[in-house]
Amino acid sequence: MSESLRETALLRDGDDPLAKLREKFALDDATVYLDGNSLGALPAHVPDRMADVITREWGQLRIRSWDESGWWTAPERIGDRIAPLVGAAAGRIVVGDSTSVNVFKAVVAATRLSADDRDEILVDATTFPTDGYIAESAARMTGRRIVAVDPAAMAEAAGPRTAAALVNHVDYRTGRLHDLPGITAALHAAGALAVWDLCHSAGALPVGLDEHSVDLAVGCTYKYLNGGPGSPAYLYVAERHQAAFDSPLPGWNSHADPFGMTPGYAAAEGALRGRVGTPDILSMLALESALDVWDGVGIEDVRAKSLALTDFFLECVREYVPAGRVESLTPEAHGERGSQVALRCADAPAVMAELIRRGVVGDLRRPDVLRFGFTPLYVGFADAERAARILAEVLAEAGSDLDG
Ligand SMILES: *Cc1c(COP(=O)(O)O)cnc(C)c1O
Repeated sequence: MSESLRETALLRDGDDPLAKLREKFALDDATVYLDGNSLGALPAHVPDRMADVITREWGQLRIRSWDESGWWTAPERIGDRIAPLVGAAAGRIVVGDSTSVNVFKAVVAATRLSADDRDEILVDATTFPTDGYIAESAARMTGRRIVAVDPAAMAEAAGPRTAAALVNHVDYRTGRLHDLPGITAALHAAGALAVWDLCHSAGALPVGLDEHSVDLAVGCTYKYLNGGPGSPAYLYVAERHQAAFDSPLPGWNSHADPFGMTPGYAAAEGALRGRVGTPDILSMLALESALDVWDGVGIEDVRAKSLALTDFFLECVREYVPAGRVESLTPEAHGERGSQVALRCADAPAVMAELIRRGVVGDLRRPDVLRFGFTPLYVGFADAERAARILAEVLAEAGSDLDG
């Protein structure tokens, strides 16, 4: 039985046009890395690039690098590299700060783009917590109130009082993919703005920001984009909003004439209005280098492999794991699935600790969810089969009371 799934896995890895990308990452064969949705793996060429940045650009050129090494323009330049991965034209994305900070900029800017009598901000009731905390503060500052709404009910909840809605494209816990085109259109029909958080979708599936007329979006780069721990996030501003985009953090980096050092603020043109202060160049250039692995890679192919991988992993889990020991929270329908599998499991903390000890690195969402991220650039079908097989072994050894 298990032989056949192993053979299937090898055949599918053999047919996989993306399989050779794995060599571009610093990964060892002893580990199945299924946590790329928390921290993407290191692309193998990045250390050499960073050594050059540090020893030559910083160590030798020093201040000259702001200009000669292109440091000053890195936020826009790297934004343009991310743009095709999320379906945006050049000039609409700027990189910098954390996702949390960009949520703040986007939510406040969205309220400033809407009429004063629109006094409600809808927030995804299942959001990653930081988005909710920050939206709540933004609402207090702008005289709005927060309404928590399940993404499935967002379209119905939007009305004449809605200024904007902040929605996670993929639920970080369950891996559920929300209907970005449909929710965005419904918000627009109600006269409201759509602000999307792409943390768990960018680099895993097509987003289509321009195509679906998203207003504002944010996302992090250390998950599926492999930018490195704490690598800077990004902010998307639709072209039609750029002239009126009014940042709540108008630092000197987004000034029309930053080196004029004038006392009054005048916003620069375009998405770079989202810049604040001096960018964290080392992290930013590590991200820029990491993005090289996407050269020639189509996000549609990544999506096809992601769905095939999560389907196959679920098939292996069904085959290997005794019925009732885990419950999948991951939607079966492809249209509702991100790039991770979430399994509810009794004693999940102990099970995940043991999985990690045996080289299957996923993560835990307390209290009882095992989360396995499938990053199609470097995870293969044999990895999926091995992870499911080891999960079944761990559960078998853990005794029969785990589902109690
Ligand atoms: C990972 C993640 C974040 C992280 O925000 P930081 O500011 O980088 O800590 C925010 N929102 C969502 C939806 C996430 O998945």
